[in-house]
Amino acid sequence: MSTNPGSSSTASSAIGASANVAARARALVGEITTLRRDLHAHPELRFEEERTGAAIARELEAAGLEVRRGVAKTGVVGLLRGARPGPTVALRADMDALPLTEETGLPYASTHPGRMHACGHDGHVAMLVGTARVLAGMRGELSGSVKFFFQPAEEGGHGGLRMCEAGVLEDPRVDAIFALHDWPFLPVGDIGIRYGPMMAATDSFAIEVLGQGGHAAYPHKVVDPILLACRIVEGLQSIVSREVNPVDAVVVTVGKLHAGTAVNIIPNFARMEGTVRSMSVAGRESALAAVARIAEGTATAHRGRVKVEITPGYPPTVNHDAACDLVRAAAEEVVGAARVSILGEPSMGGEDFSYYLQRVPGAMFRLGIARGAVEAEPALHTTTFNFNDDAIEVGIRTLAGTALRFLEAGLPGGKGDR
Ligand SMILES: [Zn+2]
Ligand SMILES: [Zn+2]
Repeated sequence: MSTNPGSSSTASSAIGASANVAARARALVGEITTLRRDLHAHPELRFEEERTGAAIARELEAAGLEVRRGVAKTGVVGLLRGARPGPTVALRADMDALPLTEETGLPYASTHPGRMHACGHDGHVAMLVGTARVLAGMRGELSGSVKFFFQPAEEGGHGGLRMCEAGVLEDPRVDAIFALHDWPFLPVGDIGIRYGPMMAATDSFAIEVLGQGGHAAYPHKVVDPILLACRIVEGLQSIVSREVNPVDAVVVTVGKLHAGTAVNIIPNFARMEGTVRSMSVAGRESALAAVARIAEGTATAHRGRVKVEITPGYPPTVNHDAACDLVRAAAEEVVGAARVSILGEPSMGGEDFSYYLQRVPGAMFRLGIARGAVEAEPALHTTTFNFNDDAIEVGIRTLAGTALRFLEAGLPGGKGDR
């Protein structure tokens, strides 16, 4: 994995730009903090981000960007065209809140019971608005374009996919994409980077097992769906042990199994539901195909039938190595190498930034927000969570620095790219 951002002339021009970015970001921290707290007080659930989108559009238009509203229902896209032609880089934030009632007691706590920014997307939006304003002020120095994606419905609504389907990656075509997520397990202002798989795919399945019921005393006249269901559950456990690469993490769990009404009746059917977690496209595809094949083959062997239903979740979030190198160089310039950590383990959570990474090279990185000991910081998706405004300056500078580096030199080396 390369850490060299490019030639020395590129590096020195990046450092000049970086001092410019730092001064502009610092000057904006107060206003961006105010915006963040306003968004926090007015959270909106997935595909309902009307007020949030209007606030974003106002800010982007005031900064002189070309703005599209109503993308993927409530999303907003800003386009900043540099003074000279060049490649296009996209930066993405998610806008939606969660269905929780806030218990922080903050003066700017949610004004809506049952809605809360408990994943820090208020911070993501505010920092990306700040980044757009910083880069808009440097338009004369830019060769190429920067697109700012504010997407709806990251929390289970596949908003990222809807944005891709709405054509945000075209016109001008996006060459690379970056995003951050706040992270309570890192000290405030630290940056965490994970090469390769970062978050899991979370798919689910349901299997309806159809037999032929009858009297429990005459098993030769029936097709027993309970025995069949048990054989299927057992068979599914050979997927991880015998079908997927042992160094490629996959989990197959049957979490529900229901059948029958009485001790002396063999029922007509049984039903099971489960989840498949995976970290790679190959692991995901082979595990899901095996679920269906094992269920159908086992049913045929025992004179039964099955109906298999797979409900896709988000794909695995897989960062591109060269994009991680670029983020790392930009982050080290902002906070120093000692505060940039390379994360050893992926998370089994999901993230719909994965849809963009399936289509263009890029990376998501983590921005630390822990106020003190990381163990004491409220976790994401809890009623006492609050984004940390002390991370705003680092977030803006790292996003802006990443975009500038990409426009100047592209992805470093291009090696190791997936
Ligand atoms: Zn979340
Ligand atoms: Zn989130």
